[in-house]
Amino acid sequence: MNAEIIAVGSELLLGQIANTNAQFLSEQLAMLGINVYFHTVVGDNPDRLKMAVKQAEKRADLIIFTGGLGPTKDDLTKETISKILGRQLVYDQEALQSILDYYKKTGRHMTENNRKQALVIEGSDVLPNRQGMAPGMLTETSGRTYILLPGPPFEMRPMYLDYVKPHLSGRHSEQIVSRVLKFFGIGESALETEIMDLIDGQSNPTIAPLAKESEVTLRLTAKHTDRLHAEQMIDQTEQLIKGRVGQYFYGYDPMTLPMAAFYQLKENSLTVAAAESLTGGLFSKQLTDIPGASDVFKGSIISYSNDVKERQLDIPASLLASDGAVSEACAKAMAQSVRAKCGADIGVSFTGVAGPEKSEDKDVGTVYIGIADAMTAYSFLYHMNGTRPSIRIRTAKSGFDLLRR
Ligand code: ATP
Ligand code: MG
Repeated sequence: MNAEIIAVGSELLLGQIANTNAQFLSEQLAMLGINVYFHTVVGDNPDRLKMAVKQAEKRADLIIFTGGLGPTKDDLTKETISKILGRQLVYDQEALQSILDYYKKTGRHMTENNRKQALVIEGSDVLPNRQGMAPGMLTETSGRTYILLPGPPFEMRPMYLDYVKPHLSGRHSEQIVSRVLKFFGIGESALETEIMDLIDGQSNPTIAPLAKESEVTLRLTAKHTDRLHAEQMIDQTEQLIKGRVGQYFYGYDPMTLPMAAFYQLKENSLTVAAAESLTGGLFSKQLTDIPGASDVFKGSIISYSNDVKERQLDIPASLLASDGAVSEACAKAMAQSVRAKCGADIGVSFTGVAGPEKSEDKDVGTVYIGIADAMTAYSFLYHMNGTRPSIRIRTAKSGFDLLRR
């Protein structure tokens, strides 16, 4: 079953409100396994609404409208749909009674407009409105389902959940299951190349790559009437993908690299301390964003200048003069020193050129990350592309990536 959602309202086109109704309905329909192929937004204009309906009828067998069921002149959804379907508008006695009751109870003056809210498309199922006055409608004709819902989200949502959802789920029980795999250390195009045949070759599950902030995610989506079976289909595809690029995989959404490092350290009962030069505290900030970070994090020294590297980390002036601050030797020495000074099991250090200018005659993007434990120290050299912020973010992420392994 393919659905289209048509949101009616000029205020949507003017940008005065966001189309949260379409978002809500899409999310709901996805849970029922109903494909939503189009969202349409059209203003309060009968001709253009008619055009939108004609278009939707060519490509959808379920059309859900929101908005334009109210009492005012610009509310014309049901008037337009009834004409398209060749049906009359008739008074729904129940809806009319509740409107009359409301005005009687509140002592307010009722106008002819208000009565209009009780008009429904002849032959349709009337969906009661518990939060307002205008009822919704559901009607099936020539194999197509038309559903009209009110615009205000607090009226539309309960109406959907109470009446539309049970109706739709009775017939369409296909489940959609999604899982997002997260990778670091491989570019989007390289990852895509590795699994191109899988992406092209299968439609259930589908594999959708997305690159964001130096990371790549793959969303695997499977459809099946049995949810467990859909999960198993995803498991199989995940194994195929991991067989190719598993070394870059670090977790499932909403896992982040700092969290992956945190859990790894915690599992091994290890603590870490950081000496940060080009990252200026970014690593420590991201680690301490995690509740419970104190279990693994001892502290850090932001040794941005050579002066502080010498004074706070005891990096020999001779080393800074011979190798420079952006060097393997300095990265190792920083990691060893901060480890000892903070009393941590592991020291990690970041030194490099974030740009925009070269430094010590080293290119922008040259980064050394040092890792030290009680026995030994390592240094990892990176050549990163990008702007100053992206180099700094990637550097911190690379530190977490080394620690999670
Ligand atoms: P009413 O009886 O209140 O006039 P209605 O069914 O005629 O309801 P509209 O007049 O189209 O609906 O919209 C009423 C209000 O509902 C809008 O001002 C807006 O606040 C909200 N609304 C309408 N459409 C949407 C939408 N697609 N997403 C989010 N909010 C919406
Ligand atoms: Mg209205």
